Amino acid sequence: MCTTTETQKWQCTNDNCKWIGTNDEKASVQKDSITKEFVCPLCKNPEFYKVSQEEEFSGRKEYIIDHDPTGGQLTVIIDFDFKLSSGDKVLDLISEMVNFWTGAEDNIDDFEGDVVKAFLKNLTHLSLVLQKQFNYNVKGIVDLFKSQEGYAPMDGSAGIEITRISEMELDYYDDYSFKVKNLD
Ligand SMILES: [Zn+2]
Repeated sequence: MCTTTETQKWQCTNDNCKWIGTNDEKASVQKDSITKEFVCPLCKNPEFYKVSQEEEFSGRKEYIIDHDPTGGQLTVIIDFDFKLSSGDKVLDLISEMVNFWTGAEDNIDDFEGDVVKAFLKNLTHLSLVLQKQFNYNVKGIVDLFKSQEGYAPMDGSAGIEITRISEMELDYYDDYSFKVKNLD
């Protein structure tokens, strides 16, 4: 069941960038004819800090989720330290929203136990569907989430805010890719 692989995350040392990801998600450049070097996929900086699991889900982070086949994209800011009135952590709320839906376990497994990615996939899929259905801008989409079953508001009042959306043609089973940056 719970096959959580502990995947080390790295943060780009460039203070103007602060990309976060795994070794697999780093870009690589050919240094000379035989040497390859890992670099940041956003700014090409070759230096990284280790990110602890605690740091990964703390502070404010901006996630940009691309729906690769269509160019659809969602930008979401999560403030993991936001104080919810219920006393729960934002990460608990995210877990609740993922587990609300049938198939949650498979969804989480698809992201090697990363419940935030599972949530962001669901959120991106639904946001892009709503965007296509109603042809709303980001404000219209955020308004729809105030009464969306299985979701907290996405206007920042629960620590999560959709800040940008762009259009696409989509299918739920397509692949998604993720970029994270630390905002603190
Ligand atoms: Zn960088």
